[in-house]
Amino acid sequence: MSRVPYIAGNWKMHLTKRKASSLARDVAAHQGENATRKVAVFPTFLHLDYVRRNLKGSNVILGAQNCYGKKEGAFTGEISPYMLRDMGVKVVMIGHSERRHVFGETDAMMVEKVKITLRAKLDVMLCVGETLDEREAGKTFAVLARQMRALKVVKPTQIDRITVAYEPVWAIGTGKTATPEMAQEAHAECRRLVGDILGADAAATIPVLYGGSVKAGNAAELLSQPDVDGALVGGASLSINDFGPIIDAAKA
Ligand code: PEP
Repeated sequence: MSRVPYIAGNWKMHLTKRKASSLARDVAAHQGENATRKVAVFPTFLHLDYVRRNLKGSNVILGAQNCYGKKEGAFTGEISPYMLRDMGVKVVMIGHSERRHVFGETDAMMVEKVKITLRAKLDVMLCVGETLDEREAGKTFAVLARQMRALKVVKPTQIDRITVAYEPVWAIGTGKTATPEMAQEAHAECRRLVGDILGADAAATIPVLYGGSVKAGNAAELLSQPDVDGALVGGASLSINDFGPIIDAAKA
């Protein structure tokens, strides 16, 4: 079973409404009618509607960087996946390392978020990955196993709405990239864990993206690994000059 290459841009807390709109137009034009790869962008909540309008008519997927794990209620400052769907969002990023490590979000919160996002009929991009200390202590696979447990709430009919992004925390925004071999080893483990949790068909079909200082210069080599199905790109997704060549490195 083949997996469609998937390139996603995480715009984090960057850009103005004008710059986000203009970048959305650039990404839409770059992707064109291409159906042999998937491209998604994840602007801030505030820019979602501007980006949605500027992606109109393209097949670029609109994503949100986070959500809260409840449908609605007294949760000041939070956003529900149902609200995201109402804004035209198709996929929600859950468990980005900055949510886990800067904002102290727990694995239990990820479970709630995965559950409610799927219930809201949105796709999930579950981010997992170890810190440098955890890698050096030989705990990488144990961390992946713990974080991937959030997939236990996925029902068989929801499997085609799941993407996993392996993002070693030490490689995010640091300029340090996992070698293609390190990425492949971790991706193979993620796929094995998907198989354990959701079965062989899920393991064969769920895309596993790599994230961590992906650039035009290293994208093709990372993407050439058998279990690397795409890339989740932070810094280099903020300009089409950097992001365009990464998109082009994704080949079916
Ligand atoms: C990310 O934000 O998910 C990321 C991988 O960032 P960067 O590409 O800047 O390391």
